[in-house]
Amino acid sequence: MLQVYNTLTRRKEALHPLEADAVRMYACGPTVYDYAHIGNLRSYLFEDFLRRTLEYAGLPVKHVVNITDVGHLVSDADTGEDKMQKALAREHLPPTVESLRLLAERYTTAFRQDIAALNILPPHVMPKATDHVPQMIEIISGLIANGFAYVTELAVYFDVAKFPTYTQLSGQRLQDKSVGAREGVEVDPDKRQPADFALWFKLAGKNRNHVVHWPSPWGEGFPGWHIECSAMSRQHLGFPFDIHCGGVDHIAVHHTNEIAQNEGFFGRPTVRVWMHGEFLDLGQAKMAKSAGTFLRLADLVQRGFDPLAFRYLCLNTHYRQKLNFSWEALEGAAAALKKMRRSVAEYRNLEISGSLSVGCAEYEARFREAIFDDINLPKALGVVWEMMADPKLPAAAKRRSLNQFDRVLGLNLADAKTFAVPDEVRQLAAERERFRVAKDWPAADRVRQAIEARGYLVEDTPAGPAVKPKNY
Ligand code: AMP
Ligand code: ZN
Repeated sequence: MLQVYNTLTRRKEALHPLEADAVRMYACGPTVYDYAHIGNLRSYLFEDFLRRTLEYAGLPVKHVVNITDVGHLVSDADTGEDKMQKALAREHLPPTVESLRLLAERYTTAFRQDIAALNILPPHVMPKATDHVPQMIEIISGLIANGFAYVTELAVYFDVAKFPTYTQLSGQRLQDKSVGAREGVEVDPDKRQPADFALWFKLAGKNRNHVVHWPSPWGEGFPGWHIECSAMSRQHLGFPFDIHCGGVDHIAVHHTNEIAQNEGFFGRPTVRVWMHGEFLDLGQAKMAKSAGTFLRLADLVQRGFDPLAFRYLCLNTHYRQKLNFSWEALEGAAAALKKMRRSVAEYRNLEISGSLSVGCAEYEARFREAIFDDINLPKALGVVWEMMADPKLPAAAKRRSLNQFDRVLGLNLADAKTFAVPDEVRQLAAERERFRVAKDWPAADRVRQAIEARGYLVEDTPAGPAVKPKNY
């Protein structure tokens, strides 16, 4: 049975889908004010590993990733400017609704390209926040009616004092959450306690010039970031749903607030399992997009890396462990990926006739066991390498199992380049093998040179001699 770690209960739990037709899974998506950095991409890769594991287990998945195109302020705690609006100045765009739309489109397209390059399965729905304002207003109205929210001159807030389990997800103490009081930005004097968070911002105070706004029962304004995910997950998956994921930075504020909103509105839990991917750490270099300096996938490609080498790097660290990025580590991942692909191509070349209909059952069982234990992909990769090194197994069986594993790994192993070896070279290789078996080393060596003169190399592998082009 598939087990996953639930941040809310702090233990691994068996995953029993709520509905038979699909596992409903929501992941917080990008705020489209800039390119994704490789840290963000690690989170989307984790979610892809999770989805592929569920599908490997025979569970269809409905995967929703939202696009935040309004309301995410510079600090997650509702202070500072709207990230989208702030980006207009950086891009020398005028402060208009049309420019915001262009900005969102540009970075949504870049996001889709990045995830495609990483072989992340496209989400089934990518809803945009600006298309769901009525649904947000419905939840906010419900929260006011249920006594969980209040209106001031500047905003509508969630009253965290009304929700006793507010800090359950993060395990923090409420008094440590002095949200909104820091940063020296405007603090609403009518806020009941610092941890109260905005559901709706009115066009007032520091937000009076917000470019994009909608009518609401509380006047013109725009939604807070947290309410967006509540509205979009409810709209596309329905309450309750199975899995909500994101990076660990979302535990303390964003997801804590989503839980409060959802349950204040719905009256009971709305998400079965909360899962969080640990950070990719770039050491000295800043990772936050708002800091202005970060590494993109394009930077890796510019240095000659295959995007899937980055995928391999992420596969090799468990999603609940920090991953320290370094160029050396990426080189290592690229080399491992290359070796794996070559092996697949070689297995194909070693296959005598047709292909075997069975894989390596013992290794397939161990692979399954690893991924079903909270998506333990580093362990699963270990099983893959062990299988590849096992001299007892036929090449065709290895290739068959690798194709199965690749449904989760997503390394495009089946596309591994293959090559044709001319008959003449094959005959020479067979001749050399006869000399080698007869321990006639000088003759074996002469034939090897003849093979090399034709542009091929012969290597003795546990499964027998393998021939491949020199430059392969
Ligand atoms: P954002 O576009 O900033 O809203 O973040 C998109 C996703 O990336 C969220 O799931 C974040 O939790 C996640 N994230 C942000 N920084 C990192 C990082 N350094 N490593 C891994 N995930 C991150
Ligand atoms: Zn979210």
